Amino acid sequence: MGKDYYKILGVDKGANEADVKKAFRKLAHQYHPDKTTGDVDKFKEINEAYQVLGNQEKRQQYDQFGTTFDGAQGFGGGNPFAQGFGGAQNVDFDLGDIFSSFFNGGGPTGNTRSQRGSDIEVDLEISLKEAVFGISQTVSIRKQNSCEPCHGTGADKGTAYDECKTCGGSGKVTTTVMGTFRTQTVCPDCRGKGKTIKDKCGACSGQGVITENADIKAEIPAGIDEGQAIRLAGQGNAGKNGSAAGDLYINIHVKPEAGFERQGFDLVTEYDVPFTMTALGGDIKVKTIDGQVKLKIPAGTPSGKKFILKDKGVTHLKSRGRGDQIVIINVDVPTKLSKKQKKLLEELNEELIKDKKSWF
Ligand SMILES: [Zn+2]
Ligand SMILES: [Zn+2]
Repeated sequence: MGKDYYKILGVDKGANEADVKKAFRKLAHQYHPDKTTGDVDKFKEINEAYQVLGNQEKRQQYDQFGTTFDGAQGFGGGNPFAQGFGGAQNVDFDLGDIFSSFFNGGGPTGNTRSQRGSDIEVDLEISLKEAVFGISQTVSIRKQNSCEPCHGTGADKGTAYDECKTCGGSGKVTTTVMGTFRTQTVCPDCRGKGKTIKDKCGACSGQGVITENADIKAEIPAGIDEGQAIRLAGQGNAGKNGSAAGDLYINIHVKPEAGFERQGFDLVTEYDVPFTMTALGGDIKVKTIDGQVKLKIPAGTPSGKKFILKDKGVTHLKSRGRGDQIVIINVDVPTKLSKKQKKLLEELNEELIKDKKSWF
């Protein structure tokens, strides 16, 4: 599932923070779109990999689940740089001077239009039990796949290409940054290929992508909560001309379960127990997410007393073990009494107030 970020950065799984950073810097310099060795897609991919591997929490999630849970935020949208730059608020972006033109020059290399596929967002409703234990779920989406007949190029099989008019076939254009520096960037029209399509592929009308139904299997990790999202890297719309695909975001909605309230990784349930039983003590059957269990209520239990059912809560999302179920016992005082109940209570009442006669 997703991309191999370690492979992208060329580090092994045991690499420490410094190694990851070093590898990222080296590759970022090499593939920076402003350099002659530049490659927007590679550069973007490297950024994506570093956003995860350079962040301890995300790296842990990635190691464990093959993906990260970015919450509801962090959607890159169609902008290829949203992930690398717009989404950089939570990334350690210590790149040195090479990026100064990016940040000061008013945007990514002026006019380089990446054809990275756009992200797709879907909503998925799961039950509380599925949130507690995790589930493999297939989501059906409409997505753009790379066109097979033309291999995503958009060019009819065997047809020739024309030289790109924008760059004259060089694949590079010279732009002026901040009115002073002249800088070479990848040609926005041919994306550095130096050529444009002569005859369009009939299957995709030259788009390089075809919209199809897709069933995508996702592992919803145990412990996930309402409003969280799962990102499946590269499962979004295919990029054009072989550019990287977008990502698929699955927004999780947890159906409320009657009687259960989630608090962090604990589940809270409440029971109204007749005051006679809390006075005398007894067993009640309590619903847990694993099934029914017996709860012993000791004699003389006061209202609001909390009982803890160990490990009956929600599975911890990023570690082992589960939260607890908290059972709150409310003492239920009847408001309507039958004749028989009233008679019995009057008898009991006489007994209970015997020692306090002076009060009445
Ligand atoms: Zn095609
Ligand atoms: Zn060109």
